[in-house]
Amino acid sequence: MSQVLQPVRGMKDVLPGEIGLWQKLERTAADLLASYAYAEFRVPVLEHTELFKRAIGEYTDVVEKEMYTFVDQGRDGDGSSLTLRPEATAGMVRALISNGMLRGARHKIWCTGPMFRHERPQAGRFRQFHQIDVEAVGFPGPDVDIELIALSARLWRLLGIEGLALQINSLGTPAARRDYRGLLQQYFTAHESALDADSRRRLSGNPLRILDSKNPALQELIAAAPVLTEHLDPESREHFAALRGALDELGIAYRVNPRLVRGLDYYSRTVFEWTTTALGSQDAVCSGGRYDGLIEQLGGEPTPAIGFAMGVERLVTLMKNSGASAPAGAPDVYLVAQGDAAQRRGLGLAEQLRDAIPGLKVETNLGGGNFKAQFRRADRSGARLALILGDDELQRGVAGLKPLRSADGGAPEQQQEVPLQEIADSLRVALAADNF
Ligand code: ATP
Ligand code: MG
Repeated sequence: MSQVLQPVRGMKDVLPGEIGLWQKLERTAADLLASYAYAEFRVPVLEHTELFKRAIGEYTDVVEKEMYTFVDQGRDGDGSSLTLRPEATAGMVRALISNGMLRGARHKIWCTGPMFRHERPQAGRFRQFHQIDVEAVGFPGPDVDIELIALSARLWRLLGIEGLALQINSLGTPAARRDYRGLLQQYFTAHESALDADSRRRLSGNPLRILDSKNPALQELIAAAPVLTEHLDPESREHFAALRGALDELGIAYRVNPRLVRGLDYYSRTVFEWTTTALGSQDAVCSGGRYDGLIEQLGGEPTPAIGFAMGVERLVTLMKNSGASAPAGAPDVYLVAQGDAAQRRGLGLAEQLRDAIPGLKVETNLGGGNFKAQFRRADRSGARLALILGDDELQRGVAGLKPLRSADGGAPEQQQEVPLQEIADSLRVALAADNF
């Protein structure tokens, strides 16, 4: 097949047959977020490249090698550099600033949609993937940190996802981090010959990122490095202790992982990650943390904030693994109409039924066809009932109602004739009947 007819590498279609679990996840999350008083926020997928560089940080995998960046050309393109969002926080914060929404106000907001990262595609890792992103802006915590983690734990329960493990850490204040960064720099400089090229580059830029390295050859060196939680400022230490105490009280199990620094530069104090062992090396399903300095750094007034993002594809896979079923897409009723008058009447009848029974799924036979062809379509649609309208029935003011399948796999019941006047009631009775 020609290349034009293939999806772009690392990008995936979600087919109607798979969409049920996506919708279940999206609806469950939207309802849950509403129940914690979070409002949906929609921001563009394109932003100025500089926004991501400043927000995420130059010495991160995302900015160094994963961004889809291009020059805005064309009729009124101004030659500026634009980037498809690799994550949502930067755009959300930009939107709060450019819409003048900060000014001491507090916002609990969320967004969902595609993110783009130019990384090596593999199972659970795509170049266009989706996140649900939650942000609480203007809250210093730790209460909101705790609530966010409880919210995520509740979401796993609602989705029937088991076996996720929570790791937490504290990165302290920027000042404490600066001191710690000096310590790390000393430590890794003393072992510079053992570092790989990426880590050597990060040594002067952001040595904390070396702790994030997945290179097996570096793990021993990393394990022996100074630990940030032992160098926290007193306030961050208290903040972290309050978080741990509350998680204990709520019965949410966690592990303190002093190596958890998260890939993005903007974090401070609380960071956390939910991981699974069920997806191979793509083990992170939800990660986030506090970013108290980011908003000021981007030009807004100093505002504490915390947020997290979950990976929709990975969660959908976990839902599938747990045997979750999605609401079936099959119609309740397939309307078979034969003859000119019946076909004309059929569309109106379907509209009437949709008025009478809200939520009823009616598929009308479109494009004509003889009885046999229409019944074949009715059968393939997965509908439970066929409603049959012919010119002859129409004249007598009746329609045929034929069960197409029974719940116990036995033979469906016989077709019956019902007055058109009572059709909605007959449908209600037939659909409620036990034998479906
Ligand atoms: P990873 O360690 O897997 O690269 P990350 O630390 O880069 O993850 P974040 O930037 O924290 O990920 O994004 C939040 C979530 O988005 C991740 O926990 C993961 O579930 C999901 N995610 C990140 N990158 C991808 C991707 N390329 N494809 C699919 N999901 C992804
Ligand atoms: Mg990554």
